[in-house]
Amino acid sequence: MQARLPHTINACTLLLTRSRPPYAPGMVIRSDLDGMTDAEARHILVGLPRAGDYEVVVKPLRYRSSPHLAARCEFEERRIVLQVPVPFHRFKEPVLYAARRKRGHGIRFAWASESVSFRLRREVLRFLYCHEWMHWYLHEELGKKSAAETACDRFALRNFRRPRVSIADADAALRRRVRV
Ligand SMILES: [Zn+2]
Repeated sequence: MQARLPHTINACTLLLTRSRPPYAPGMVIRSDLDGMTDAEARHILVGLPRAGDYEVVVKPLRYRSSPHLAARCEFEERRIVLQVPVPFHRFKEPVLYAARRKRGHGIRFAWASESVSFRLRREVLRFLYCHEWMHWYLHEELGKKSAAETACDRFALRNFRRPRVSIADADAALRRRVRV
């Protein structure tokens, strides 16, 4: 982990349609990870909303000291890259899911965070996909600047353990109603 700025996904270089089907049998999901087939990767992401025509690629993360979260949404390449720590051990990572302006002089924020435990590769992949999907949604569907890390983490945190996730869940995560 680097500085505790509102970005829990170290390598997330930032940088989806109500009328389209929310679940994606046709989405291209590929695994470059030893020991995980394309079909397994697809199965892991079942029930999550599709990212338009973007390709989803699972890659290994060869970390130096400890496993952590890493993923990116590549708008130019129309690709979402999700990385799984190799070797994989369970790990915890603090996820910042809300920020609120504090009253007083200058700009100060209060952060709300939760330490999330990742025991399985499946949990890592679903969390990362939800996070990156929100970047995609903000950029491609809502036309907003996508660097909204806390919104992406809030959406991921709320939803990565749920079997089915919809656009409505995303819109709910974008409405700030979090008390710090
Ligand atoms: Zn991000």
